[in-house]
Amino acid sequence: MHRPLLCLVIAVFTACKSGEQPASGSVPVSAKALAAIDTATLLGHIRVLAADSLEGRAPGSPGEAKTVRYLEAQFRAIGLEPGNPDGSYIQRVPLVGITPQGAPSLTFARGGTQQTLTWRDDFVAWTKHVAPSAKLERSDVVFVGYGIEAPEFNWDDFKGVDVRGKTLLMLVNDPPLADTTQFGGRAMTYYGRWTYKYEQGLKHHAAGVLIIHETGPAGYPFAVVQGKTGEQFDLVTQDKNMGRSDIEGWITLDRARELLRLAGQNFDSLKARAATREFKPVPLGVTASLEIKNGLRTVDSRNVVARLLGSDAKLRDEYVIYTAHWDHFGIGAPVNGDSIYNGALDNASGTAGLLALAKGFAAMKHPKRSILFLSVTAEEQGLLGSQYYAMAPLYPLTKTLAVINMDVLNASGRTRDLVVVGLGASELDDYARAAAGEQGRVLVPDAEPEKGFYYRSDHFNFAKQGVPAFDPESGIDVIGKPAGYGLARREAYTANDYHKPSDELKPDWDLSGAVEDLRLFLTMGYRVAQAERYPEWRAGNEFRATREAQLRRGAPSSP
Ligand SMILES: [Zn+2]
Repeated sequence: MHRPLLCLVIAVFTACKSGEQPASGSVPVSAKALAAIDTATLLGHIRVLAADSLEGRAPGSPGEAKTVRYLEAQFRAIGLEPGNPDGSYIQRVPLVGITPQGAPSLTFARGGTQQTLTWRDDFVAWTKHVAPSAKLERSDVVFVGYGIEAPEFNWDDFKGVDVRGKTLLMLVNDPPLADTTQFGGRAMTYYGRWTYKYEQGLKHHAAGVLIIHETGPAGYPFAVVQGKTGEQFDLVTQDKNMGRSDIEGWITLDRARELLRLAGQNFDSLKARAATREFKPVPLGVTASLEIKNGLRTVDSRNVVARLLGSDAKLRDEYVIYTAHWDHFGIGAPVNGDSIYNGALDNASGTAGLLALAKGFAAMKHPKRSILFLSVTAEEQGLLGSQYYAMAPLYPLTKTLAVINMDVLNASGRTRDLVVVGLGASELDDYARAAAGEQGRVLVPDAEPEKGFYYRSDHFNFAKQGVPAFDPESGIDVIGKPAGYGLARREAYTANDYHKPSDELKPDWDLSGAVEDLRLFLTMGYRVAQAERYPEWRAGNEFRATREAQLRRGAPSSP
């Protein structure tokens, strides 16, 4: 079960493979800047951000006001200028909180036969419409396999079939194929994410999208989906999200099997067909009915943004962005008598890292290009603050070279490795590998690429828009500890503290590894900001075409 040896082999192999050194070089980095990042700085910020007085930093809460005030004061004290061209440190992010009311039931019908699903036990659904209610009224159900259209894999689950106004029943993840060169092999591509599935509903003007929950392919049990029965936040779009499908949701595998039996079909054989290029949508001859009533409230939340102006007059309108979400879950259901979800690791630690990086950059001669420190809101509600920035960037994305994200820093001590989620995605790996090498460390890939972690934090919204985005995680090969220690610490965090009130600053934290990681991120970002050319996505990456089209349209000033 233990993987470090394998990881090490992979890391050495990939290190050898990238013989040509692109712009990453070994441009020296100010020792003063590196020294400015230390454990005392991190601890000081985390102590404030994870304190009970900040109430778990929920968007729209009094905790938000305190958090934003703290971040702004810190950026100002460090000497960074306001990151918004309007002269403030704030980008306003309009959110709407939508809460389904009551416990509606979902009914499938075929002729005189009905199947009724129970709220929460059998299905979870919502509407993103900013409206009092939305419904499916005897909407025809069509099984569309994985619901994927991926031209680069010559894959189309729709085959031109018009599904407007219908309810799409879909499988989660991307198709498991014998050919591992397709859909990233074991790794999940964006086509596998549930968010993509609902976007397909919007694109095809479907009335509803229901995903069949399977624990293995989803990467989490149905209990996680049941967590979505409370208030969900979304951005308020121009059309109040009316373009989205009326109903989005999940149903359990057992109820899906029953539904398919009602339709005279068999789940396993349909699933097998869906894993082929020849698959065509299957109308089930069954209708779906469901009405959801909404409780609505609008929340004006905030990204906090600070800028370190580049030193080169020609290049200073180009940006490297560091991101870390400041928000967490606020005050919620008590666990062991504690109702404050402090989010000390997730993500007071990353936010402290952002401030420490700002302090580091401020201690050196400014790089040629500008550096933006973006502390985003509502990550926990679906990466909304970063989505808002990527939709309404303060500086053009065509002039944004790279994004480096921090979400949960290492609190287990120095490591010989750094885990890179989506390793191999872009040339940012080369910068990271060079910087890691100078620390005597190696990069290793994420051990669970099938879970699609790359699509689950803020950098992803930038990747989706084309900007190369780097998603590091703590290493697991902890120096001075027995094999398996790092992994055991990570698993214990996931099991005991992740998204629970007990994610608090603990006496056994060792932030020396976080300091080393942050120095690596500073080195990377500095060199990108000094580089001759923009970093690129690797050939075959799903975001490369978007970036190329974006740069053609935007024609950045440097080559
Ligand atoms: Zn997080």
